[in-house]
Amino acid sequence: MGLDYVPARVSAHGGHSGQFCLHAEDELEAVVLAYIAQGFVWAGITEHMPPMQDQYRYADEKEAGISALALQKQFATYAAEVKRLKQRYSGDILLLGGMESECYPGAFEFALELQQRYALDYIVGSVHHVREINFDFCPAQYQAAITACGGIDALYCTYFDEQLTMLQALRPAVVGHFDLVRLYDPDYAQRILNPEIMRRIERNLKYVCDNNLCLDLNMRALAKGASEPYISRPILVKALEMGINILPGDDSHGVSSVGYGIDAGTALLQDLGYACAWDNPGAFIHTRT
Ligand SMILES: [Zn+2]
Ligand SMILES: [Zn+2]
Repeated sequence: MGLDYVPARVSAHGGHSGQFCLHAEDELEAVVLAYIAQGFVWAGITEHMPPMQDQYRYADEKEAGISALALQKQFATYAAEVKRLKQRYSGDILLLGGMESECYPGAFEFALELQQRYALDYIVGSVHHVREINFDFCPAQYQAAITACGGIDALYCTYFDEQLTMLQALRPAVVGHFDLVRLYDPDYAQRILNPEIMRRIERNLKYVCDNNLCLDLNMRALAKGASEPYISRPILVKALEMGINILPGDDSHGVSSVGYGIDAGTALLQDLGYACAWDNPGAFIHTRT
């Protein structure tokens, strides 16, 4: 591959849509058409898994009074729609139908059951809850998670411990936004150097490496005002040194965020010497069918 090698445009995490997610926009078909218009070779459609019980709904779902059961039924419609779109646009783009999973008591068993029931291609394994608190929803909930853990360093440690439990239970083909826990922490660059935290990061990366999982280079961080994607640079460099595969994800939540940051993320990886030869998702994402 020469210097002029242009990697394919791909996204392993995204395709949330207003049709199936309250905090996203637009119909899923419009999102798919946007991927096609931007020349994506393949795109993973990975809607959030529905909550197992009412208590695990996102705050906006609670406010809107949508029950867990209704969200579970909606997920069945989602799975059917992804299947239809895969077929319909198979000449234009390779779509993978997946799901972004959650991390709370009972969520892993439920995620595996959903994957099997709907024959989903793969799971993006994410952690949006620490001690059952949805810490990434807003600063107040982030603070609540800090309090529950007994401090911000403890929040990081608990996050990475719960992430390891998730990795072991699900072995997700793609690990979503590995260091999301830094979301509302202006001092994260220093904090991850805390030996107690770094030891856990390295431990989890080793698990990812040993089990041949991929990391999501999640570009949505930039849209939310961060100066770099998840995974932050020092962790990304470690992952690359270990030979871990990375795939970019726009984490799109509607037409306007399709493709967001993918070229920048790809350039960053190329700068770090990564080949970005991800034309064939099957070589990276071990799908189950
Ligand atoms: Zn979302
Ligand atoms: Zn997520």
